[in-house]
Amino acid sequence: MSDDCGHRHSHTEAMLGVEDALERILSYFEPLEAVDVPVAEAGGMVLAEDAVSDMDIPPLDNSAMDGYAVRSESVAGASAGAPATLRVIDRVAAGQLPTTAVGPGTAVRIMTGAPVPPGADAVVPFEDTDEVERVREGRSLDEVCVAAAAGPGTNVRGAGRDIRRGQTVLRRGTPIGPAQVGVLASLGRPTARVHRRPVVAILSTGDEIVEPGSPLPDGSIYDSNGAAVAAAVAEAGGVPRPMGTAPDDMAAVSAKIDEGLDADMLVTSAGVSKGDFDVIKDVLARRGEMQFWSVRMRPAKPLAFGLLAAGDGSGRTVPHLGLPGNPVSALVAFDHFGRPAIAKMLGRPPAPRPTIRAVLGDPIRNTDGRRVYARVVVSRRGGTYHASLTGDQSSNLLTSMSSANGLAICPEDARERLAGEEVDVVMLRWPPDVF
Ligand code: AMP
Ligand code: MG
Repeated sequence: MSDDCGHRHSHTEAMLGVEDALERILSYFEPLEAVDVPVAEAGGMVLAEDAVSDMDIPPLDNSAMDGYAVRSESVAGASAGAPATLRVIDRVAAGQLPTTAVGPGTAVRIMTGAPVPPGADAVVPFEDTDEVERVREGRSLDEVCVAAAAGPGTNVRGAGRDIRRGQTVLRRGTPIGPAQVGVLASLGRPTARVHRRPVVAILSTGDEIVEPGSPLPDGSIYDSNGAAVAAAVAEAGGVPRPMGTAPDDMAAVSAKIDEGLDADMLVTSAGVSKGDFDVIKDVLARRGEMQFWSVRMRPAKPLAFGLLAAGDGSGRTVPHLGLPGNPVSALVAFDHFGRPAIAKMLGRPPAPRPTIRAVLGDPIRNTDGRRVYARVVVSRRGGTYHASLTGDQSSNLLTSMSSANGLAICPEDARERLAGEEVDVVMLRWPPDVF
């Protein structure tokens, strides 16, 4: 297809190793700016500042048990045969402040989490007292007999034992999970300062591509890449912004790209392979600085990456990842290059998927010096992982991806990996058995 004004390709084509391609791509991404989000929504994000406590946690010495707050010397040497009898002078529940000090020979009935009254240095649990018996027998609770000794500090949770005032509890860069959310909330924070989630605009291109929900004309196929990449973006911690489909048409693609330029990244699929309908490549090359690569991997060899001018006069650019069109290639390429970019924007290192060693059930052939990622099902038998191919490895067969839980690797420099050989398997789902 010739272009309307005789434009010549300004892009470069290069053969690149997988790690090289990833390194180049990541060099264009930085953690996004810090924002405050409700603490409960911070899970999966990364702290953008140190969390320093301005208080002790727990704030006060408090009881670890339901029982009686005592002075340890009042119950020294107490036993079932020789219980210590104490006078019960008050009671305190969690959320109350004790007002009565515990003196020698006295006790305050106390509940878990309640502040330990002044004078007390130990809590005797109910089960070491005769309280239950007294209640059963209708005897007075003005006294209690303690049948075991409790040294200083027994069942007392000391103030500041978890967190000290002034302590840096979580460092910036810490990935936030449920426990970190809990810690931040325990400091009294309604919000957490985190790196913003990247918004990822997603566009599927191709004359034959039709959005699910519309009738399917002869010769067309439904857009699976749009939805699959959106799910992958969400799984990676980004916010997908689906932009639907555009035909292989200069104006249509250009208009869609405009819509995506306020996103943090644009991901398109199709139109990047050699011998492809040139219009997509031309639009991209013309609107920014695009590189078209052949990555030494199978599937997902053709890949485009570049920076599109935001076009708002700000000089801002939007990274653009151009995935191959074949659905398996699109997902594998996104997993290798899109997911780490999202991780970097979120402020954390690109976490590699877990890799295990597994014994191959089928051979993997490498015909052209690319790293082969073969779709496999990994299962564990007798302490050994076994990997068998999900079937035909053509990159258009999406069900061979949906039934896989891992990608078994035949390295670039190996002609094959035989059945019975042990290989690296990158796990798409972990653990493998929950599937
Ligand atoms: P292309 O990269 O345009 O050469 O496309 C490669 C193959 O992927 C072709 O068979 C396309 O029909 C198919 N394909 C491209 N885009 C999509 C999509 N969004 N959903 C499903 N298949 C697609
Ligand atoms: Mg196409």
